[in-house]
Amino acid sequence: MLSDINEYFHAASDLLGLSDRVRSILLTPRRVVKTELIIENDNGQLDSYIGFRVQHNNARGPMKGGLRFHPSVDEDHSTALASLMTWKTAVVDLPYGGAKGGIACDPQKMSDRELHRLTSVFVERMKEIIGPTTDIPAPDVNTNSKIMGWIMEEYSKYEGFSPGVVTGKPLQLFGSNGREEATGRGIMYVLIEALEQKGHSLEEVTVAIQGFGNVGSNAARLLHEAGAKIVAVADAGGGVANMDGLDIPKLIEWVTETRTVKDFAGGEGFESDEVLSWKADVLIPAALDGVLHEGNADKVEAKIIIEGANGPTTPEANKILADKNVLIVPDILANAGGVTVSYFEWAQNIQHFRWDDERITTELEKIMRKAYAEVYRISQSKNVDLRTAAFYVAIQRVMDAANSRYYISET
Ligand code: NAD
Repeated sequence: MLSDINEYFHAASDLLGLSDRVRSILLTPRRVVKTELIIENDNGQLDSYIGFRVQHNNARGPMKGGLRFHPSVDEDHSTALASLMTWKTAVVDLPYGGAKGGIACDPQKMSDRELHRLTSVFVERMKEIIGPTTDIPAPDVNTNSKIMGWIMEEYSKYEGFSPGVVTGKPLQLFGSNGREEATGRGIMYVLIEALEQKGHSLEEVTVAIQGFGNVGSNAARLLHEAGAKIVAVADAGGGVANMDGLDIPKLIEWVTETRTVKDFAGGEGFESDEVLSWKADVLIPAALDGVLHEGNADKVEAKIIIEGANGPTTPEANKILADKNVLIVPDILANAGGVTVSYFEWAQNIQHFRWDDERITTELEKIMRKAYAEVYRISQSKNVDLRTAAFYVAIQRVMDAANSRYYISET
């Protein structure tokens, strides 16, 4: 994944005429922390885990990025995702840099008490480098609002009351209205923008979605409410399709009960992977990275892809899809609604003032639409795709801030 992100970074850097020296400054993480975490398990034995935090760049502000609990967490993956956060926060113009981290562990095999101990030890080790003005973690794979609440509590034990140290907290514990659906809502706004550029509207399009978790199900619900026809949805269990449009509220009820879209009575079942080549105007990959690759990109039927997941398209697939004239709204722009509402949560924590739903929605729409318009403008003026344009905008902003702070020279 790191090499894919860097390939996109270099394409935009070529356009900006950046020297190897400046590229190296922009790519090198500011700080990488790897730490052993020892906890007592429920049987009274000691277990050891490795935790990571990669702080990529803080030229534009405190660093921001998720915390993942998964066996695959390692330095390379955290570094890749930390750099993605630097470009993502810059492209939507949030006053943040990028970070990422996590613990190599399998939460499915751990009790809540063990997870609580592990999270507390992680904070104890990281407390000097995280904080509301330095690095603000958030939920990611296998971490949730409950764990964010534990982080706030543990950090506050050392530093005093600090709700702004972490976002994605429970609503009753200084969380924000609208955070749950934020990424799906952001996806809706960029899709509206992409369609408007082509003279179309949501009511005219059919949509296929891979993934029906937080991102996929919220995007489906909001798009359905706004008049789009969701014709196919797939998750890890299987797929379901209805060319007249799926009844999304009923599908959400079904998934709440059964944990999968498979066997939903309101449509025909299909093999999960087929969703990527479904005959629909819009495809939203909202599950895993690398799902659109050299082996399947030529089978994509959609004319617009909105990247809900991080890194769903490999550079090889990106080229094939460009040749097919498919418009791709890249992850760093398309799924930035989540970090944007995290920013609102942090702002509310610092102000000690809660915003209502309407304010969150209005501000999110403004930020997403403005970011799309700027990226689209650059893509037109430089004659490049939206991904290169998004990286161009992001790198330029990080460069400008870095230059104002430390002087690294323009190229
Ligand atoms: P989630 O765990 O809530 O949902 C993941 C979904 O993907 C589930 O429905 C799962 O069944 C499905 N899935 C897993 N393997 C699959 C497969 N092989 N085929 C089809 N579906 C499969 O995760 P999420 O929070 O919705 O995140 C999804 C993606 O979006 C990830 O790449 C994540 O990094 C990215 N993302 C999430 C947010 C956010 O706010 N949650 C923000 C930005 C980016």
